[in-house]
Amino acid sequence: MIKTIAVVGCGISGAVLSAFLKKNSNINVDIYEKDLFDSKKINGIQISPNGTRILKKINFDNFNNQNLCKINEILIRDFNNPSYLARMSVSGYDSNYITLNRANLVSFIINEFELDKQVINKEVISIENNKLNFKETSSKEYDLIVLSDGIFSNIKANFLNRRFAYSGYNAVRGFFHLDESNKNNINLYMGSDYHIVFYPIDQNNNYSFTYITKSEESLLGNNYYENKKINFLEKNKFIVKYLPKEIFLQKEVYMWPIYKTNNFSFGKDKVICIGDSSHGFLPTRAQGACQAIEDSFILYNLIKNNCANSNNFFKERIQRISKIQKKSENSLKIFHFKNIFLRYFRNIFIKIICKSSLFSNFFNSFIFNYKYKL
Ligand SMILES: Cc1cc2nc3c(=O)[nH]c(=O)nc-3n(C[C@H](O)[C@H](O)[C@H](O)COP(=O)(O)OP(=O)(O)OC[C@H]3O[C@@H](n4cnc5c(N)ncnc54)[C@H](O)[C@@H]3O)c2cc1C
Repeated sequence: MIKTIAVVGCGISGAVLSAFLKKNSNINVDIYEKDLFDSKKINGIQISPNGTRILKKINFDNFNNQNLCKINEILIRDFNNPSYLARMSVSGYDSNYITLNRANLVSFIINEFELDKQVINKEVISIENNKLNFKETSSKEYDLIVLSDGIFSNIKANFLNRRFAYSGYNAVRGFFHLDESNKNNINLYMGSDYHIVFYPIDQNNNYSFTYITKSEESLLGNNYYENKKINFLEKNKFIVKYLPKEIFLQKEVYMWPIYKTNNFSFGKDKVICIGDSSHGFLPTRAQGACQAIEDSFILYNLIKNNCANSNNFFKERIQRISKIQKKSENSLKIFHFKNIFLRYFRNIFIKIICKSSLFSNFFNSFIFNYKYKL
């Protein structure tokens, strides 16, 4: 019987798991977080119905609707063509497709379940069996340890000898404000060797954009978290044509190298990895956080049924995670096609899928319709 759990990292995966445990169990949970939260950071995030369906179980209906957007369609455009190629419906599900600021989601979960009372501001540096060692040369034992410490998990790298790799892509991210609203849609622009996504993140016409492009260099030395501020307008004059000019007026635009995990690791015995610590994806299908939410919910169910160990978690997750990773990688290649014939056939295929909401719902059903029952 599990009586004590350590959750290492309080991003989306750690916060969601801790909320489920707090809401539905008497287990003693300590959450270790090395960086205290910075709610001013703006990072747009899309949460598809497979994620929002689970979030509802931890009171997401109480989230302030002014701070999110319910998405109806993804508007898809090829850069060669000034008009939309297709509009893909994402609204015909039993739960919403939403966009919001990631920091607002994490803060909401922490406040709703008073998780701040359990958060301990310590950096975990290693694990031995069921013992966590902290930077301040102290240590503590737990019945179960959950690593939700993100893609750069150093602990996992040492404990399980699994590491992340540079994906060969960089993301330029920022946010902007529009005077007029263009709500309820995600905009996807497919270029050659790059794509751009932008969408509203609240009801106040604030937008997030991400520009993903191929790059040989990861830009970074030893500090993987570091990002680089760039002059976006100067570097991207060639794509200004069809995008809102506000995107290019931003001063706060940063470039992030994108990392991924080539070999998933779900942990060892009573140490379990969830979220990016287990599987880092390319962000093309917007599933990193959604899969982190699924991981947390499934692990919570294993804990509730007293069968939480890395083997059982692996069995529950490996097929789905592998398939979503494959879909994310394929989508990136397809979005970035250079060859004119490939682009032509891709565009016809997209038009067919988007012709009816029945087709697009069917196309996305593997990801969005996921319902977990133990
Ligand atoms: C450009 C881009 C766009 C994206 N867009 C989307 C999207 O639209 N939809 C989507 O679903 N996903 C998206 N993602 C992915 C998503 O952001 C991540 O998958 C998700 O945030 C991972 O959450 P996590 O909790 O697993 O890890 P993290 O959010 O990285 O949290 C890890 C936490 O652990 C803490 N920590 C780390 N090491 C230690 C330690 N040793 N001791 C204590 N604490 C520690 C860190 O400080 C951090 O708070 C995107 C990613 C990128 C790069």
